[in-house]
Amino acid sequence: MTATQNTKPAVVAERSKIHEVVRAAQSLGQSVGVVMTMGALHEGHLSLVRRCSEENDVVIATVFVNPTQFLPGEDFQKYPRQLETDRDLLASAGADYLFAPGNEEMYPDNASTVVKAPDVSLRLEGEHRPGHFDGVCTIVCKLFQSIPVNRAYFGSKDYQQFLVIQHMVKDLGIPVEVIACPIIRDDDGLALSSRNRYLSESERASALSISRGLREAAKRVADGERDADQLVLDLCAEMDSAGITKIDYVVIADPNTLQPIKTITAPAIALVAAHVGSTRLIDNLRLQP
Ligand code: AMP
Repeated sequence: MTATQNTKPAVVAERSKIHEVVRAAQSLGQSVGVVMTMGALHEGHLSLVRRCSEENDVVIATVFVNPTQFLPGEDFQKYPRQLETDRDLLASAGADYLFAPGNEEMYPDNASTVVKAPDVSLRLEGEHRPGHFDGVCTIVCKLFQSIPVNRAYFGSKDYQQFLVIQHMVKDLGIPVEVIACPIIRDDDGLALSSRNRYLSESERASALSISRGLREAAKRVADGERDADQLVLDLCAEMDSAGITKIDYVVIADPNTLQPIKTITAPAIALVAAHVGSTRLIDNLRLQP
C-alpha cells in the first residue's frame, strides 16, 4: 500500500472515508501512521512523514488549519494555505493519503464539545496563549477518532505540544503510540516553521539570535555551567541585543514536567518564545550536563 516515490497521495475530505481507509489497511495486518499538520509544509513536516513511512505500511498526512487553537488576533486568517503544493511535497516524502477536511467536517453544526488539555499545558505556551492547548487537544482527539492509527508522529519543535498530546493519549486511553521527532533547522540554525515566511530579511537576522543563544547555552552546560538563571539571563541578553524586544518566555526546565530548574544536574531543556516583528516564534534545545 505504500506509495512509490512521487505518486500523489489520495485526497480524502470526509472523516468516514479516512476511517474506512485505516480500518481496511489494519484488517489486512498493515500498520498505519499519521502526521498531523496545518499545511504550508516544509522539511520539518516532511521529516516526520519520511519517518512515518519508514515505520508504517500506510502513511496518512493531515492538513487542517484548526480555528480553535488560534486566539483572537492571531494569524488564523492569514495562515498560509497551499494544498496542491503540499500534496506534491507529501508525494515526495511517501504519504499515501492526504486528509484535508473542511471546517464543517471537523466542527459540524458548530460542535461545542472541548477536550480540556492536561496540566502540563498550563505553563509556557498555555500561559501566553490561553485556550490554545484545549483547541489542540480537541482537534487531535477528533482526528484520532476518525484516523485510529497505530502510530502518530509529532515534532519536538513544539515540545510542549508533544508532551500535552502524550499526556492526553495516556489520560484518555487512546490506543496510539505517540512518537517525538527531532527539530529540523535551516543551515543558519533557524528552526523551520511555516511562520518563517512572514519574516523580512532583517527580522530573520534578529530571529537567528534565538537558535544561536540556545546553542551557546547548550555548549556552556556541556562545558560545566550549572546556573540556569544565569543562562536564561544571557539568552535574553543575546536576543535583546539582536533587536528582539518582546520575549514571552525563556525557561530552563525539566524535560518531563516543564517545571523550571535552578541548578542543572540532569538533562534539561531550554525553551524560548519571542516575537520578531509581528511574528511569534518558538524554539527549544536539550541541555546535557
Ligand atoms: P504545524 O503544521 O506547525 O502544526 O506542525 C505540524 C507538525 O510538524 C508538529 O508535530 C510540529 O511539531 C512539526 N514540526 C513543525 N516544524 C518542525 C521542525 N522544524 N522540525 C520538526 N518538526 C516540525
